[in-house]
Amino acid sequence: MNVAIAGAGIAGTYLARLLQEKGINPDLFDGMEHETTCRCRSCGWGAPVGIGNYLAKAGLLFDDYLMTPMVSMNFVGLVSKTPLCTINKPRLLRDLASGLPLQKQSLGIKDADAYDIIVDATGISRAFLPPCRSDLVLPTVQHRVFVESLCGEPLEAGVYGNRIPGLGYLWIFPLGQGQYHIGVGGIRLDQHESIMEQFYEEHAPRFTFTPICSCRGIIRVASPYYSAPLYASRTRENGTPQRIIGVGEAIGTVSPFTGEGIIYSLECARLLADSFPDEKRYASKVLARFGWMKRERETLDYLLSKGRATGPRLRDRWRFFRNAQRSGIDLPMIEAFRRMGSLSRWVENP
Ligand SMILES: Cc1cc2nc3c(=O)[nH]c(=O)nc-3n(C[C@H](O)[C@H](O)[C@H](O)COP(=O)(O)OP(=O)(O)OC[C@H]3O[C@@H](n4cnc5c(N)ncnc54)[C@H](O)[C@@H]3O)c2cc1C
Repeated sequence: MNVAIAGAGIAGTYLARLLQEKGINPDLFDGMEHETTCRCRSCGWGAPVGIGNYLAKAGLLFDDYLMTPMVSMNFVGLVSKTPLCTINKPRLLRDLASGLPLQKQSLGIKDADAYDIIVDATGISRAFLPPCRSDLVLPTVQHRVFVESLCGEPLEAGVYGNRIPGLGYLWIFPLGQGQYHIGVGGIRLDQHESIMEQFYEEHAPRFTFTPICSCRGIIRVASPYYSAPLYASRTRENGTPQRIIGVGEAIGTVSPFTGEGIIYSLECARLLADSFPDEKRYASKVLARFGWMKRERETLDYLLSKGRATGPRLRDRWRFFRNAQRSGIDLPMIEAFRRMGSLSRWVENP
């Protein structure tokens, strides 16, 4: 069985390592054509500390990648303890790929013909699978900045759903040594830079911000269910069949509410490695494991369709609350329910 993995992001590299352990040696391809200073796709590098369990399975030590714990975080005014941290994702990707047969080129359809199975780990590009049943994406802009405090207090880690005119959020993730990732993302949003400018202006009396780099990105927030098909087949030029199996963000393993995809890409790769090469079994495991993403997506659809007419329903607020719980964020329920409408400020307070 001849296997290629297209995409050496988190999902593709982790899968390649897990498959190697099973005695399957896939070829790994990635042109790494990222227009970012860190040379990997735009990302905030935020993850729960539980990522350490996945790293351990690949023989890696969490402490080697930990940048800064985000022990407490501001969620639209609610400050809560969290198990979140920032990780050195470029280093992690480099180490995950180390020792793998990585070819630094994109995999094209013609070269792909040489393989019986193509794993589509190409993230937002979804280069091999047919289009999603119903895609939904969140365009983003992120800056890496050096922050100096003029008030004696450090800039707080936080996620703010109330700063975006629509469905989206602004995030502030500390990277250590005074550096931060600050970004905005919103469905159908196109005023990213002016929102960032407004943020800097508002904080100017207390902090100075020195830009280091900036990047644009897109996150697939469709959920796996709405990213179907999760696998497909095609006929090669020589008339023989080829199977294509998606993994990671290519098949929407990202929290639709938060855009968090690192840990879910790892989990998705684990599910695929466990079932490989049984794509049907794998797909049903993915849909079961990430069923909550379907429900989050449906909340987004509801809020988008209702526009200004109404706010989040009880079930939507419950889903926001469950999302925080799932990430280990212990928000007080009643207050959290009251404030969770702020993810959709324009819906509630036009
Ligand atoms: C601005 C922003 C901030 C984010 N912040 C966070 C965060 O803080 N925490 C979090 O958990 N998630 C975050 N995410 C989401 C997270 O980055 C992704 O969900 C996760 O990286 C997906 O991993 P992946 O391996 O599936 O895809 P990717 O990381 O996108 O990897 C896909 C790879 O495929 C390659 N590729 C594309 N086409 C081909 C081809 N034809 N042949 C070979 N290779 C190809 C690409 O070069 C790329 O390297 C953020 C996303 C964005 C845009």
